[in-house]
Amino acid sequence: MTDAAPLGVWSAPGRVNLIGEHTDYNDGFVLPFAIDARTAVAVAPRTDAVLRVSSSFDDSEASVQIADLDALFASPAPDSVPEWTTYPLGVAWALLHAAPETARPHGLDLAIASSVPVGAGLSSSAAIECAVAVALNELWGAELSAKDLTRVGRTAENEAVGAPTGIMDQTASMLGEADAAVFLDCRTLATEIVPLGLEPADLEVLVIDTLVTHAHSTGGYRERRASCEQGAAAMDVAMLRDLAPGDLERAASVMDEVTFRRVRHVVTENARVLETVRVLRESGPRAIGELLLASHASMRDDFEISVPELDTAVEAAMSGGAIGARMTGGGFGGAAIALVPRDRLDAVTDAVTAAFSASGFRAPRIFTVQPSVGAHRDR
Ligand code: ADP
Ligand code: MG
Repeated sequence: MTDAAPLGVWSAPGRVNLIGEHTDYNDGFVLPFAIDARTAVAVAPRTDAVLRVSSSFDDSEASVQIADLDALFASPAPDSVPEWTTYPLGVAWALLHAAPETARPHGLDLAIASSVPVGAGLSSSAAIECAVAVALNELWGAELSAKDLTRVGRTAENEAVGAPTGIMDQTASMLGEADAAVFLDCRTLATEIVPLGLEPADLEVLVIDTLVTHAHSTGGYRERRASCEQGAAAMDVAMLRDLAPGDLERAASVMDEVTFRRVRHVVTENARVLETVRVLRESGPRAIGELLLASHASMRDDFEISVPELDTAVEAAMSGGAIGARMTGGGFGGAAIALVPRDRLDAVTDAVTAAFSASGFRAPRIFTVQPSVGAHRDR
């Protein structure tokens, strides 16, 4: 470690998806927002061409030293490095390839610290990617746009880490704004900031992390994707995005019942995302409760990716006075969100805790998140 004064600190947030589940890989719509938990990277200069990353997470201090930037350019992940380093080094690798000739890559020490819980469905992966991306972009003079940096993050996650994820998480983490969500069209990658107005409406978003992780989530995900492809093929369209709710009657007659329900979830979920954006603009956040509930019902009954813990979280949150609630994320476990009037926070928390206890479920982790600003330089 050098003793040099830090060059600066950059940070990027985790995210929560307000609505739009399993729509991303169907070229559809999503509406995530950046949250107030962030991952920060403090950067110090080096005199050599070495990139050194360190992070304290999971109670362990891990670090790795990469011989030089030339080696990194050739490969983001030599066999010997611990998996977590493929996130920051993968970003450096992707940025080296995406940067223009005018960029000046040089050696740096990156010290990473985070308040985004890992694996809780809040995308700690996008937070670390985007924090490193904005830091290196500025320090190396790459001058890539925020949108370019979302692609750098996804490339790192797809190619260096090897996780076949979409671009929603990085988009929210890069482009988020206070008290706003980021609408993303996954086909065109066009984005729009949609004010949420939670603050003036005295509303909070409560995350109910069931702490359930299901072994078959990977297989389930693959199966759902395959059903979506089959459904699109049966309807002779490239992607389910190309279908509207008015096409569902015909869809029911050209595919089996299970595939039809998978298709119906995606088609109606896309419509719900668009409707949520419209309702937020015209009537404000207190009017989106029904849409959140309809989204949950669709994932529970049509897409069949909920679990009893998530259904209980949604039902109990509503009985405690939430305006709306739904499971969020890929399903088979993970978290639910509830939109809750500030003066009902305790009642909702108590109702969920009591319902979990009565069902013999492990106590969930319940906390609020604030829609927050995306990646930036802190100091
Ligand atoms: P999540 O839902 O939190 O994004 P992922 O499995 O996609 O879960 O990403 C989590 C992985 O990202 C961790 O296992 C680790 O490899 C890496 N990661 C996230 N945050 C940090 C951090 N602060 N320091 C080091 N690695 C991190
Ligand atoms: Mg992730």
